[in-house]
Amino acid sequence: MPGANVEQTVKSLQRLREPIIFCKALSRSCETTSVRTDSSVPTPLSEHELFQKFVYKIALVCDNQLSPDSITAVSVMEDDDVYWFLFACNKVTHEGGSLVAEHIISLLRVVRDGASQDVSSTVMRHKMLERILLFNRPNVQRYIKWMIYWASDLWDAADQALGKDAQLRERICKVVSCVYISDLDQSTDEEYLESCFASFRAMGLFLKGLKTFPSGPFGKKSSWGELKHCFSRLHAYRDAANCIADAATRWPNLFEHFKVHHVPSSRPKSLPTGKRSYTSHDIVGRMSNDSSEIRVLREKAASFLRCGLDEAIEQEAKKAKSLNVHCEVLLEDWIAHSPEAKRLSFFRGGQGWKYIGASKPTCRLCKYYFAAKRSDIALRPSHENLYTNWLFPESHGSKNTPQGRQWQTTLNSFMQMIRDDAIRMLNERTAHWKKHDSNTYATPSVRSIPSEAALIAPGYGRKQRVLVSLPSRAKVAVIKEEDMEEGGVKLK
Ligand SMILES: [Zn+2]
Repeated sequence: MPGANVEQTVKSLQRLREPIIFCKALSRSCETTSVRTDSSVPTPLSEHELFQKFVYKIALVCDNQLSPDSITAVSVMEDDDVYWFLFACNKVTHEGGSLVAEHIISLLRVVRDGASQDVSSTVMRHKMLERILLFNRPNVQRYIKWMIYWASDLWDAADQALGKDAQLRERICKVVSCVYISDLDQSTDEEYLESCFASFRAMGLFLKGLKTFPSGPFGKKSSWGELKHCFSRLHAYRDAANCIADAATRWPNLFEHFKVHHVPSSRPKSLPTGKRSYTSHDIVGRMSNDSSEIRVLREKAASFLRCGLDEAIEQEAKKAKSLNVHCEVLLEDWIAHSPEAKRLSFFRGGQGWKYIGASKPTCRLCKYYFAAKRSDIALRPSHENLYTNWLFPESHGSKNTPQGRQWQTTLNSFMQMIRDDAIRMLNERTAHWKKHDSNTYATPSVRSIPSEAALIAPGYGRKQRVLVSLPSRAKVAVIKEEDMEEGGVKLK
């Protein structure tokens, strides 16, 4: 009788979390280096890259939860009969997964039915975009509100600064007034879609006008960064619709016979209760077997104590209430170990197209996991951010089985990568981060955008409900915070 699978004991779980928490806490004290997205002129994508974009765009339009933890991963495989669209989400219920599956099926059917009924490409794209906007309504509404908010902020500055540039002023007006209804949240689907398309038109006009002022000539730099972030998130939905429609002409077979399969989210793992003191001195002591190296590292860690390193470690340790396996890892694990996956192969896997595309760039721990596994499955580039609620997947075999041994090797290798990171950070005093983990713009050195809670929870803090009324038709109520944080927006 085979033994029980290797389990992550409380002790091993703690050991794995320690360097993650340490890195996260240390990054607060280090100089930060933002990860910049390459802004060079884009070159045409190869067929392989277009396929990857198609896959992660499907993931993106399935990610309709407001939580920043919400991530969806998608992969395309095939058996002798059909193409399999596999997906997994970080944290979704069975019912939530069914809704996502239905959404993917409906998008693929728009293409298939459009092709069989000879629907024009324009009509198909429009229909696709409508479905995407409706499924993602909470997120889209949030970005429209923020777009109006930041455009209004710029409008105030534009009034003085753009006296001579009537055209750009007018274009900002269009962004501010693109929503036609007084309450976006309560609007009908038709009204909501009308506002979305008006937003797209306003964005397009504004960006055209910006060509004469590429760096933003007035107002706060942060407002420009946030406005561009909202533009980029809204544009991503339209881009996704086009991308899925384009895929239909490149790989029509994918849309003819398909199956959508949901790989369930992991069961959240509760963190062990009981008092455990985390200090940099203790954690560093377990990072190496070399006592002289430990001594040097402890000295370096001690230099961060006056910046509150130990307090930051305690705070980071308490932040996560439970741990979850990230969706990219869930998919890989299912592909590697489930009996159903044994008869599947990646779509064009023989040509190196093995790919798992997620709705957001890959986090650092998922990147390390795939590297530790020496996986040949490609992922989206990493934004390098760390999440302390990241969970290493369970083993699929007992200690003395090949699966159990491979799992242990991966775990050891993964742990070493995090420890190396911590040591590098101590040595270089530099951390890498990216502010918006979802976007395509890097907006370094700008203050944090107010949380969603700040938008919708009028009872919190010194907030005031403000009707954005510039110019005529903008009537979306947003909440400005008087006192968000240093450098925050002040109410007029
Ligand atoms: Zn991840």
